[in-house]
Amino acid sequence: MSQLSMRKSEGQIRLVLVEDYKLIRIGLRMVLNGDPEIEVVGEAESGLHGLQLVRDLNPQLVILDLGLPDIDGFELTREIRKINRDIRILVLTSHDTEEEVLQALSAGANAYCLKDIVSDRLIEVVKSVCDGAIWLDPRVASRALQVFSESANKRALYNRMALTDREREVLRLIVEGMSNSQIAKALGISLHTSKAHVCSILQKLSVQDRMQAAVKAVQQSLV
Ligand code: CA
Repeated sequence: MSQLSMRKSEGQIRLVLVEDYKLIRIGLRMVLNGDPEIEVVGEAESGLHGLQLVRDLNPQLVILDLGLPDIDGFELTREIRKINRDIRILVLTSHDTEEEVLQALSAGANAYCLKDIVSDRLIEVVKSVCDGAIWLDPRVASRALQVFSESANKRALYNRMALTDREREVLRLIVEGMSNSQIAKALGISLHTSKAHVCSILQKLSVQDRMQAAVKAVQQSLV
């Protein structure tokens, strides 16, 4: 047995390609099979065929295109996730908008690569993604992360706005560790009213107790 085939048999990454453009598929197979640790075990030209191969071959990783003739890559990603939560999914596409990146990630993709990626880098990405990493092409990563953080800010703003001024005041006192009666005394309100405010705050923040409310208040800068 040659050195190459010995290495090929142990610890290999079994991979399925889903790409409708034949020339790209052939190129990818040659590049990937050229690495001793990777074996392309199946190729599909459509989403449904790809799904069948995933069922039949149980690969460790799937490389898929977003634009496919039947179901698109987003739907394929969701369907693969239903079959196997552990399988690694690498999107390889020419689509580079942040919407597409976020949609692919929320469908369950672990990596997002653009098609002009150099072959050595693609092999690195395949290996690191199989090792548990996630990977975004640097050209789309910063924009996608910006959209992520903007939506997190919007959520925080929404929570802040959902609380009345009085409730925010009460929340601030909860963060300081005050009890219901201490809050009532500090604000010159009845114990009953103080309890009602705390109740309403817990509900609006969707938390179980005042400790969780305090943590969320600090985490999301609500007070
Ligand atoms: Ca395509």
